[in-house]
Amino acid sequence: MGLLEDWGWDARWAEAFGDDAGKGFSPARLIEEQRGLFQVVTADGVKSARTTGSMRHKAEGRADLPAVGDWAAIEFPKNEKVALIRRLLPRRTKLSRKAAGDVMMEQVIASNLDAVLIMTALNAEFNARRLERFLTVSRESGAEPVLVLNKLDACPDSAAMLADAKAVAGDAAVIAISAKTGAGLEALASWLKPGRTVGLVGSSGVGKSTLVNRLIGDDLLKTAETRATDERGRHTTTHRQLFVLPQGGILLDTPGMREMQFWESEQGLAKTFDEIEALAPECRFKDCAHDSEPGCAVKAAIEAGTIPRDRIDSWRKLKREANFEKRRVDPVALSTEKQKWKVANKALRKRIKEKKK
Ligand code: GDP
Ligand code: ZN
Repeated sequence: MGLLEDWGWDARWAEAFGDDAGKGFSPARLIEEQRGLFQVVTADGVKSARTTGSMRHKAEGRADLPAVGDWAAIEFPKNEKVALIRRLLPRRTKLSRKAAGDVMMEQVIASNLDAVLIMTALNAEFNARRLERFLTVSRESGAEPVLVLNKLDACPDSAAMLADAKAVAGDAAVIAISAKTGAGLEALASWLKPGRTVGLVGSSGVGKSTLVNRLIGDDLLKTAETRATDERGRHTTTHRQLFVLPQGGILLDTPGMREMQFWESEQGLAKTFDEIEALAPECRFKDCAHDSEPGCAVKAAIEAGTIPRDRIDSWRKLKREANFEKRRVDPVALSTEKQKWKVANKALRKRIKEKKK
């Protein structure tokens, strides 16, 4: 198997790449980003790459620019060390969040994940409502969510939390592990497979780094750190975001995935709260908010005890947040934000130019 295959290249990507080789382009996967400069894996190893002015110019927003996980067609210009990212192959999945700023802009945190491991700890951190949020965002991305409950070794009675997790998981698998002792890790093998890309999300302190260290081992951890040069020419050590595990499988760990603010979430919400969605057609009103409307089937289910009140409260809260974000995408504000973004983009272009001098 070649290097690209180790990183997830397959017949479908080859098809998406098409005859770009005829244009002098090569396929590459983006595995790290630092201030607009990417590390990419090519058939010949890891190279640096950057976006082109025309790609940045055509971009309608940040979401059109490369993200870690993307497959791209790149070109090696003569007499230049840094390759050019000419085109992104259409993303199979994309994990997005709301970009920082006043107005809604989509930011793709990672693309082409096959599964998302949603990690939490079996202690006071455990919160079914937080799991629902992570499940919603992960499902919206198109990747398969897996609930990973860590710190099993330090939990005297995990049964109740496991049951709570299963109650909100829907079709997602629920796995209890100890990243510290290694207990239960074998259950992750179904997702950590050669050629498959898996993201790791969860709040700070739940044990993500511990799991990563255990999965890749100390020696490999060193290789996951790369020496890079920052703007001022200083050497910095960065943590590679996407790496291949010894047993095969590609793991993505990035701080950007630790907290989740909604971007699009309609489909994710529908799947995560499918028992509520399933009842909605039985409500008297088509646009029932399951609040104080007469003839509400969901309210009847809560009163009958078939749907827990917590679930509907949580659904309402997330739905409100999703609708609120949607309303904020007003066209005028968005164009102002895009303008601001274009200016920032221009500054980045200038920085890259100066660096090349
Ligand atoms: P991160 O912020 O999600 O990357 O969490 P870390 O991996 O840094 O872990 C946070 C703390 O939890 C550290 O003190 C770890 O030693 C501890 N920890 C991680 N996994 C386990 C586990 O399975 N069991 C126990 N008892 N502690 C753990
Ligand atoms: Zn209703």
